[in-house]
Amino acid sequence: MRRILRIAIACATVALTAPASGQTGDPIATLVARLDLEKYKATIKGLTQFGDRRQGTDRNRAAIDWIEAQLKSYGCPTDRIHYEYKAPPADGRGRGNTGRGANQAQGGGRLRGIRTRTGVNTDPMKQPDEKLRALNVQPASDGPREEAFCTKVGTTHPDEMYIVGGHMDGHGWGEAANDDGSGTALVMEVARVFASPDVQTDRTIRFILWNNEETGTNGARAYVAQRQTLQGTKDEPKWLGMIQHDMMLFDHGMPREDGTMSREQRPEADVNIEFQANSKMAAESQKLAWLFEAANEKYASDYPAHVGSHMTNTDSGPFQDLIPAISLRENERGAEIGAGWDPQWHQPTDLYVTYTDKDFRLGLNAAQTTLGAIAQLTGATIKGVR
Ligand SMILES: [Zn+2]
Repeated sequence: MRRILRIAIACATVALTAPASGQTGDPIATLVARLDLEKYKATIKGLTQFGDRRQGTDRNRAAIDWIEAQLKSYGCPTDRIHYEYKAPPADGRGRGNTGRGANQAQGGGRLRGIRTRTGVNTDPMKQPDEKLRALNVQPASDGPREEAFCTKVGTTHPDEMYIVGGHMDGHGWGEAANDDGSGTALVMEVARVFASPDVQTDRTIRFILWNNEETGTNGARAYVAQRQTLQGTKDEPKWLGMIQHDMMLFDHGMPREDGTMSREQRPEADVNIEFQANSKMAAESQKLAWLFEAANEKYASDYPAHVGSHMTNTDSGPFQDLIPAISLRENERGAEIGAGWDPQWHQPTDLYVTYTDKDFRLGLNAAQTTLGAIAQLTGATIKGVR
C-alpha cells in the first residue's frame, strides 16, 4: 500500500515537472527547456576574465568586444550605442552608499530589521588575489563609451519591441560576478535561445548590455536620450516595455545580529520582480510585473517569484515614466540589498567562486521567467512545434 502510494506520488511529480522538458505541445516550454545552467555559468565565468569591467577602462572595452562576439556567435545581429561620459566632481562617496533617506526618496522601500554596512570598496589591498588586483588596476577615464546590443526582429510586428537588459560594468575590486555578470549572462542566454534559426517571434526583442550603470545608469540614459524620439521610424521600433536584470544569484536571507550570513541559499529564496509605484507608468508596469509572476509560476523550475512596488537604482529607472518597466533581482533592491542582504555587493568577494549551484540556479530561474514571459508577449513559435 505504502509502496503504491509512493509510486503514485512519483508519477504526480513527473507530471508536474514534465512541461519544462519540452515536446509537450507548448512551444514556450520547449524554449525554456533550452536554457542551460552550465552555459549560464560559463558565460558568467567568461565575463569575469575581464575583472570588474569598470566603465572607462580597457578591461571594460575588452568585455564589450567579448559580449558582442558571443551574441554574434548565437546568430543574433549586433550593434552598439555610442555616447560620452564625464565623471562628476568626486565627493568621496560611492553610489552604493545610499542610506535610508536615499532609498526612500527614490521609492526603494523602508529599511527594517537587521542592517549591516554597505558601500563600494575602493581599496585595492582588500583584494587578496594579486592577479585580479593587477587586472583591475587601470582607473576609469572620461571619454567615449559604448554598449552592445543584439536584436531579434519580429515577423508580423517588427516595428514593436521589448527591451531586455542587464549591465555589464561593475566595480569594487572583485569580478562583478553577481553585480552584474549574473544579469548580463542571463540576457545573453535568453538571446541565445531566441536567436536559434527555428524560432520566430511576431514582435521584436532587443537584448542590451548597458554600460555605466554603476555611475548612475548613464548608459541607459544615453539610449533614451538618443532613441526615444526615433520610435516608430525605421531606425527604432516602438518600445513596449523594458525588463532589467541586476544581481540574480544571492538570496541567503537577512544578515544575523553579528553581521554574518547563512552560507546557503535560503530555502524560501525567490525572484523579486519590482515596478516603481511612484512612476508615471506604475499601473502598466504593475501589470507587466504580474505577467512575469505568472510566467514564473508556469515555467520556472525551482524558485517562485514575488512582485514588489519599489523598483530602484538600476537601468529600468530611465524608462519608468515612459513605458512599462520592471526589474528582476535576487532581493528587493531598496529594503533588502540596501540593508546588507548581499555582503558581496560592490566588494572584492563578488567572485565566480563565491557562488554555488543553488545560487546560479536562482539566476537561471529568473531567465526561465523572463524567457517564458517575453516568448508569450512576442508570440514566439518554433518550426515543427505547435
Ligand atoms: Zn548592479
